[in-house]
Amino acid sequence: MVATPAWPPASLPRLYVDRELAEGLALTLDGPQAHYLSAVMRLGAGDRVKLFDDISGEWLAEINEAGKKKLSVTVAERLRPREPVPDLWLLFAPIKRGRIDWLIEKATEMGVARLVPVITQRTIVDRLNRERLFAHAVEAAEQCERTALPELAEAQKLAALLRAWPETRSLYFADEEGGERLTASPGPAAILIGPEGGFTDEERSAIRALPQSRRVSLGPRILRADTAALAAISLWMATAGDW
Ligand code: SAH
Repeated sequence: MVATPAWPPASLPRLYVDRELAEGLALTLDGPQAHYLSAVMRLGAGDRVKLFDDISGEWLAEINEAGKKKLSVTVAERLRPREPVPDLWLLFAPIKRGRIDWLIEKATEMGVARLVPVITQRTIVDRLNRERLFAHAVEAAEQCERTALPELAEAQKLAALLRAWPETRSLYFADEEGGERLTASPGPAAILIGPEGGFTDEERSAIRALPQSRRVSLGPRILRADTAALAAISLWMATAGDW
């Protein structure tokens, strides 16, 4: 029996585009995307790619014309609608480059809906390159067949965040000094991870004073902030998410 080749093949290049896609739409890809498709993947007129827009889902598109700097493509058919994402935010104190890139990539893969950099008293990294961080989220989503991207919020001060905290959103505060086991209740949620130097006592009491906050432990060993974030996301996803 001759195997029927799956179409479109799973290996088609997938790219995120920053505009809403629709059937018949013609668009130009340039910059690194054009370089990737023409020079790296060696695609040309008639070849197909998958595109997603974080709004309408994933589409099959055909290349009309390919140059080294620019490619024109036409969007053909919708392959999948945008996926639903569990309502989980990750609040993290920025950590140094490399580790934060890893954190953004992994949190995206795990299905976090919103990433919120939080400035705390002991936050050391205070300048964030949002464009670079967003690029890591995009790359993870492109590789992992995702049709949704996490929203990357502007960095905010912890005190301001706590003051305006949404009434119905649980806040799981990861505290290396101890707390309950993270078993999530259904409903909107957020995980708060501290900086490498931890939270100050003042911050710890402000967080605990918030009625929506729950102090959670991730075990008896102190974890680095990036590891703690991933462990907490796993626990939440396993109990209240869509795993
Ligand atoms: N205060 C510590 C470590 C901070 S670890 C120090 O300076 O040595 C960075 C963050 O990871 C913490 O603020 C906490 O949110 C989280 N974290 C690390 N280990 C944890 C654990 N075992 N349980 C809960 N949270 C933890």
